Amino acid sequence: MNTPVPRPTPVHAPMSQFSAAEGQLLIGGHRLETLAARVGQTPFYAYSRDLLRARVAQLRSALPAQVKLHYAMKANPLPAVVQFMAALVDGIDVASAGELQVALNAGADPAEVSFAGPGKRDPELRQSVAAGVLVNVESMRELPVLAAASQELGLPARVAVRVNPDFELKGSGMKMGGGPKQFGVDTEVVPDVLAFIAREGLAFEGFHLFAGSQNLRAESICEAQQKSYELALRLAQHAHTPVKFLNLGGGFGIPYFPGEQRLDLAPIGANLAAICERAQQEMPQAGIVIELGRYLVGEAGIYVTRIVDRKVSRGQVFLVTDGGLNHHLSASGNFGQVVRKNYPVGIGNRMGAADRENASVVGPLCTPLDLLADRMDLPTAQIGDLVVVFQSGAYGASSSPQGFLGHPVYVEVLA
Ligand SMILES: *Cc1c(COP(=O)(O)O)cnc(C)c1O
Repeated sequence: MNTPVPRPTPVHAPMSQFSAAEGQLLIGGHRLETLAARVGQTPFYAYSRDLLRARVAQLRSALPAQVKLHYAMKANPLPAVVQFMAALVDGIDVASAGELQVALNAGADPAEVSFAGPGKRDPELRQSVAAGVLVNVESMRELPVLAAASQELGLPARVAVRVNPDFELKGSGMKMGGGPKQFGVDTEVVPDVLAFIAREGLAFEGFHLFAGSQNLRAESICEAQQKSYELALRLAQHAHTPVKFLNLGGGFGIPYFPGEQRLDLAPIGANLAAICERAQQEMPQAGIVIELGRYLVGEAGIYVTRIVDRKVSRGQVFLVTDGGLNHHLSASGNFGQVVRKNYPVGIGNRMGAADRENASVVGPLCTPLDLLADRMDLPTAQIGDLVVVFQSGAYGASSSPQGFLGHPVYVEVLA
């Protein structure tokens, strides 16, 4: 008889992008406690310039040189981050006129800025034409608005068609293409959109496909990119002018939860190289773009909150912090998670401590949803210690309900 092999408990991927000295987590060379003093308060978010730079360099070395790298700034729209990223990547993707303003202020080249998103309002479309950025058209309704703005401003509207493909990105945390979707134009309707673009004399540049987000499976990403390329090739036959821009999306994920591993970039690089080679023959004028948000900034950021109380309730230790879901909705599990799991969490002034215990970290809000760590193995912590939530550089600050319960606001810094 076979004895069942005990399955190992899944653990978090090591947060090896950060180092520590004398128990203090280091961010951009600063000891965490010193950085907290510089910031002047907790809670705060800190983003490491070194890690942002290293991530872009790592991608550049894994991907073919001709692939353009865009930063989807909704992942982290802090102007200082957008400015830093604008100097490192080839373009910025915006999802509103508000983001467009930040991108332009950050010094992004309008030629390499694109605007995607459902429900673009008429003034937003007009602003895009005036700015000379590329609009990823997602609805027939946008076309006459763009044509009118073009006429009025005497500037050609630069357009690409965002396609809602007839396939899904397997293994994605969030699917944003395939089936009925509010994003993009269904494949079947694209020829009509192309005909309108030609008739109205809009400047057609190409196609945008974005299948989904937070994918940790390289083979699924490769498959989506392959299928996206094939689809663009088919649709290009209906275009009246050559394709100059082909955005194959992104969706690269980062490990958040126990058992998740970092994405293997090597097969994605090889796949994109094969696509680029084909494109040279089949779509010779097309620049290939991938757009990444989370993957570029997510691992470079931490959320830091101080322990204000330590309670034991019926044997369970609760570390109560001065910030929680009001600043970091994602880490509480209430932003797109179906089953709540713990983000990687640490005690930033007791890194590597041998004395450990099982504890829950909760924020100060009067709701049981305000949970940053549910019964985790952590260094034994005291009032005044600094709880660090890793993997917090994307969809942290800007996607949280700051006003909920009227607690003090967070600060964000680059370090
Ligand atoms: C949100 C979004 C992105 C960024 O997604 P990440 O998962 O953060 O990389 C890219 N493109 C479009 C169109 C998006 O809506």
